[in-house]
Amino acid sequence: MSNHNQKLTTSWGAPVGDNQNSVTAGSRGPTLIQDVHLLEKLAHFNRERIPERVVHAKGAGAHGYFEVTNDLSKYTKADFLSEVGKRTPMFIRFSTVAGELGSADTVRDPRGFSVKFYTEEGNYDLVGNNTPVFFIRDAIKFPDFIHTQKRDPQTHLKNPTAVWDFWSLSPESLHQVTTLMSDRGIPATFRHMHGFGSHTFKWVNAEGEGVWVKYHFKTEQGVKNLDVNLAAKLAGENPDYHTQDLFNAIENGDFPAWKLCVQIMPLEDADTYRFDPFDVTKVWSQKDYPLIEVGRMVLNRNPENYFAEVEQATFSPGTLVPGIDVSPDKMLQGRLFAYHDAHRYRVGANHQMLPINRAKNEVNNYQRDGAMRFDNNGGGSVYYEPNSFGGPKETPENQQHSLPVTGVTGSVAYDHNDHYTQPGDLYRLLTEEERTRLVANIVDAMKPVEKEEIKLRQISHFYKADPEYGTRIAEGLGLKVPSQEVLS
Ligand code: NDP
Repeated sequence: MSNHNQKLTTSWGAPVGDNQNSVTAGSRGPTLIQDVHLLEKLAHFNRERIPERVVHAKGAGAHGYFEVTNDLSKYTKADFLSEVGKRTPMFIRFSTVAGELGSADTVRDPRGFSVKFYTEEGNYDLVGNNTPVFFIRDAIKFPDFIHTQKRDPQTHLKNPTAVWDFWSLSPESLHQVTTLMSDRGIPATFRHMHGFGSHTFKWVNAEGEGVWVKYHFKTEQGVKNLDVNLAAKLAGENPDYHTQDLFNAIENGDFPAWKLCVQIMPLEDADTYRFDPFDVTKVWSQKDYPLIEVGRMVLNRNPENYFAEVEQATFSPGTLVPGIDVSPDKMLQGRLFAYHDAHRYRVGANHQMLPINRAKNEVNNYQRDGAMRFDNNGGGSVYYEPNSFGGPKETPENQQHSLPVTGVTGSVAYDHNDHYTQPGDLYRLLTEEERTRLVANIVDAMKPVEKEEIKLRQISHFYKADPEYGTRIAEGLGLKVPSQEVLS
């Protein structure tokens, strides 16, 4: 709230004499360049925007807490999970993926689900989506994939031909495409969807023993989705529908909550499981690895300032704490570089010092300088390591956990290439009404594709997942499922 007695000042703190009239030569002007307040005001205004995120540009955020409800310290030494009842402050950012900063909320798109836990041993970011899988499984394909989701360089329009060309030539996308095209591709609100860490991570306990882990945030509000016609109407009438819903719910004291569960896999199972557990286009069946409750996340405070908190929030799957480690997942490995790199470009080299990103515990290191270093920059303390002046030292017990590896270097794909069983399982778990809507959504989305070859290739993928699935889409598009020779 503003203090009514405050003096208006320039950014250098001097009182402003007139904020309504520029300094001019007489009442008609011209304006004099000596009006330094005017110059500063216009120049700062020109610099109000930072680059929007290339992906996940449109988002909404909230503060809250995470509370442990089940002791899993036998699997992880992560301090914030160490005892039942322990509460950790957190911040979340929900987002769409492909649209720009002002784009509509109620579009068919995965939703980002990024959580920052301010633990006592540093920040921990879980940078996931509302889907358990992803379109691709190797980061080398990411820039190409996102090009197809963004605008055509000539027309500046979305390009369904590019979208389906890429997907049909990248059959590992089929599981996520099926998820996206299902009812859950347009959630009713950010509150009515699950969240997933998607990748496999590793948990390490105090004895140095590891397990593979996957995260599931289960919405306590229940899963609800939007009817496609209502979503289209809302996209025109209230493009900020999800943003508004989240803000209003929290403002009204209706605090949304999620139960955090994990699936735990013994390290050795990774060698024998029927899917590669590091392949992010696959899930681990919950029949094999059931969900285990960990805790509860509650969102109970709106940001005070959108830019300072939501726009400047920087998440990375590489923001890890002791007890939580990476897996060889090739998509995750690329993200470990790409996220912080994006923020260094977007926000600046010192982005982790901004209040929304700063760890709550003390940060001690030898990083110095860089644009906008606004604390005391380490003052007069020792600025290199090793040193004889008592500077901060490494703690060997916090090294990354080891992973035995074998193989020959090379550009090699995952061994497992079954892109069809799990999308088929998803299709088969849908009710008849859900299948009908899924098929209709896909048919509508594929109709504008300009090349029949692309449509036929994609139909073959649906057919291989489930013959009924492929046949219904082919019928909807007025085409025939390609012959078995083409399919094999
Ligand atoms: P399970 O029957 O043990 O689990 C099914 C999963 O599907 C549950 O997580 C359930 O979550 C979710 N689900 C239910 N209805 C839908 C729907 N309409 N759209 C999307 N998800 C839904 O089977 P499996 O674990 O063996 O998985 C079978 C298939 O379920 C997978 O191939 C995958 O496509 C899908 N799935 C699996 C997940 C996993 O982690 N194993 C996670 C999400 C989906 P809920 O009831 O809370 O919605």
